Amino acid sequence: MNKFSLNFLQKSRYLTDRFFFRTYAVSSEDLEKIRKFKEDRKKKVEDPYRTFNILRDDFGRFKKGQFRTPTPKVPTYSEYVVVGGGIMGSSIAYSLKNRAPDSFEVMVIERDPKYTRASTTLSVGGIRQQYSLEENIKLSMYSADFLRNVKQHLSVLDDDPPDIQFQPQGYLFLATEAGVEQMLKNHKLQTELGAKVELMRPRHMKETFPWMNTDDIALGSYVGFENEGWFDPWALLSAFKRKAISLGTTYVHGEVIGFEIEDKSHVKGEDAKPLFRSNYLYMKDELGDIHCVEFGFLIIAGGAYSSDVARLLMIGNGPGLLSTSIPVEPRKRYVYVFNCVTGPGINMPLIVDPNGVYVRREGLGGKYICGRSPAPNEEPDTSNLEVDYNFFESHVWPTLAKRIPMFECIKVSSAWAGFYDYNSFDQNAILGPHPYYENVFFATGFSGHGIQMAPAVGRAMMELLIDKCYVTIDLSRFHLDRVYEEKPLFEQHIV
Ligand SMILES: Cc1cc2nc3c(=O)[nH]c(=O)nc-3n(C[C@H](O)[C@H](O)[C@H](O)COP(=O)(O)OP(=O)(O)OC[C@H]3O[C@@H](n4cnc5c(N)ncnc54)[C@H](O)[C@@H]3O)c2cc1C
Repeated sequence: MNKFSLNFLQKSRYLTDRFFFRTYAVSSEDLEKIRKFKEDRKKKVEDPYRTFNILRDDFGRFKKGQFRTPTPKVPTYSEYVVVGGGIMGSSIAYSLKNRAPDSFEVMVIERDPKYTRASTTLSVGGIRQQYSLEENIKLSMYSADFLRNVKQHLSVLDDDPPDIQFQPQGYLFLATEAGVEQMLKNHKLQTELGAKVELMRPRHMKETFPWMNTDDIALGSYVGFENEGWFDPWALLSAFKRKAISLGTTYVHGEVIGFEIEDKSHVKGEDAKPLFRSNYLYMKDELGDIHCVEFGFLIIAGGAYSSDVARLLMIGNGPGLLSTSIPVEPRKRYVYVFNCVTGPGINMPLIVDPNGVYVRREGLGGKYICGRSPAPNEEPDTSNLEVDYNFFESHVWPTLAKRIPMFECIKVSSAWAGFYDYNSFDQNAILGPHPYYENVFFATGFSGHGIQMAPAVGRAMMELLIDKCYVTIDLSRFHLDRVYEEKPLFEQHIV
């Protein structure tokens, strides 16, 4: 019996006497697989002829010329386990390991290592400081500084330094008369916090961007100097991942499907705190085999699917406070690509129209990308990543053609769709621990601005986990408490 199995069995025997200890998974099929895995493990552990049986089976297969694909090696213990290896999970893993490479194990579990459906790789990669909340402005300013020094932070010995293709052309937000008050308020806060945001009257805008129609525009807010623009999300994700691995992080290909949950809700007194606890998760590897991993801390960074992961811990389908779900869900967003060789060219910022249509340059060959978030009553089906081209004709093109007349004759050449990790409660990040599970943390719900905040959020989560408080930026207003207290913290600038 190895140390882990002994520890696990002893602990579960001890705990079942005092507390209610249950295996939990949402899918009954997964639960059955976990049950079988536990039964087989118990049999193996208790079998006095275990070694002999393994050798006999292997020898039998060898004689028949049957060779099994070896089951991937999955560590049985890690101090920190991150669910989701997108930009958030990878930035958190990097920050933890960068703080103390040899002090603890960090493991990232990712079910889709090619990131075919991850928000990260399907994003537009924009970074801006033009937000209405102090936390978002500070997060983005920190990240901008990190990205400026990305080579220093994320280079790995004997490998090329990361090239995230940063384009510093800035963002230009446009406001009609109705939006001026909010824009002035945002500008005041942004500049107080040190962001170099410039307000532009239409005449000034027309001089700077002569190709733009400003007839209905009352004010613009522009950062054309530093810290705003866009970059290649895939390159940043790869750089975080490579650096995290070089520092000792283990990435595992698998899907987290269930947990061992210790329920102390019926216990009175100090022993009852926290009310629930989990230190064991079950994951299914790419061959369908089940593995059990013991962990000290769990960080859920599952993007648009974070609330599904939470449900495996009964968060959203359990008793009391556990009946409240993590309010994060996938929301489909389309990105359309078009060519216009006679278009505005290299110095065009990412422009956000008052109605939410955005457009920016993509590369240097006259290619542009654009999109718009649908209204709440127009939200598309999220069961697939199909693109609705009619949405471009009806909701995007009319604004583009009006704002930049050069775009009147454009045709879409390609398009893609991705899922926002949408926080339906207040469109802001959900960070920090769950009130019932002291060792379960969240980093999710960024609703379309997660890529740019990842470097700062990774650092903040590391501080919270290791220092037990925020040191660089206080993000306690982003904790789950606001959801339970029904006190939303709205961000006015969601694109
Ligand atoms: C079209 C579009 C444009 C965007 N534009 C911008 C932008 O300009 N600027 C910006 O800052 N942000 C933008 N975003 C938002 C940004 O992409 C996200 O906020 C960010 O990528 C979230 O990162 P993440 O790591 O949390 O999620 P993801 O990248 O989705 O990663 C989560 C990972 O968790 C894994 N996972 C989930 N459940 C499990 C499980 N049970 N077991 C194992 N693994 C699991 C998934 O496979 C996934 O790879 C955009 C998003 C979209 C879709």
